[in-house]
Amino acid sequence: MYDVVNNLHSVLRELPNGVKLIAVSKYHPIEYIEAAYAEGQRAFGESLVQELSKKVTSLPKDIEWHFIGHLQTNKVKYIVPYISMIEAVDSVKLLREIEKQASKYNRVINVLLELHIAKEESKYGFSFEDCRAFIDSGEWRNMSHVCISGLMMMASNVSDKEQVRKEMLSASIFFDEIKKKYFSDKASFKERSWGMSQDYDVAVSCNSTMVRIGTKIFGPRLY
Ligand SMILES: *Cc1c(COP(=O)(O)O)cnc(C)c1O
Repeated sequence: MYDVVNNLHSVLRELPNGVKLIAVSKYHPIEYIEAAYAEGQRAFGESLVQELSKKVTSLPKDIEWHFIGHLQTNKVKYIVPYISMIEAVDSVKLLREIEKQASKYNRVINVLLELHIAKEESKYGFSFEDCRAFIDSGEWRNMSHVCISGLMMMASNVSDKEQVRKEMLSASIFFDEIKKKYFSDKASFKERSWGMSQDYDVAVSCNSTMVRIGTKIFGPRLY
């Protein structure tokens, strides 16, 4: 087995207090997750509904699952019974569906709004403008089964750390603006989810509170 245990501890040692590790286990076998779990890791990230559903049934119930990929609205119903956080809410339509499905289970699901900042990495996510407009609409205030817990973004996949820093800082500044204007009375709006294996060092210097790290812990993914 790839040296999951050592890798996990070396990543954890590098994270400052207040930065939470989401161990991204997509495409990795159950045994890798169990190895990390045995070391105390509880938060795991997955990005495919089918793969996640399979893993959930054979792993401990106290795992905190984060859905970090693009989620199709017609698949929300499958993960709503157990998901802890849906990190990549990239449309109002998706948020409405989460609200609808979560109400059936009488659950409140933590969600992050995904920002689209990187040049071409992902086609998903809100522009600053659209995100601002949605939050300003106030529609979310009537959604009692979703808790908007913060923002998520993926930086450009480039070696130019200054570019990455620029994007993460713009997300952080935007977070502060939204927090101050709309969520100053909501302690639950607090998460800034940015940073992956190759850029989490930059992310923690740009006020990240949540890093999503896969490769650095579990090795290369086998597609
Ligand atoms: C796969 C994935 C990650 C983890 O990427 P690594 O480079 O393996 O650390 C983080 N965030 C999202 C949204 C992902 O899809």
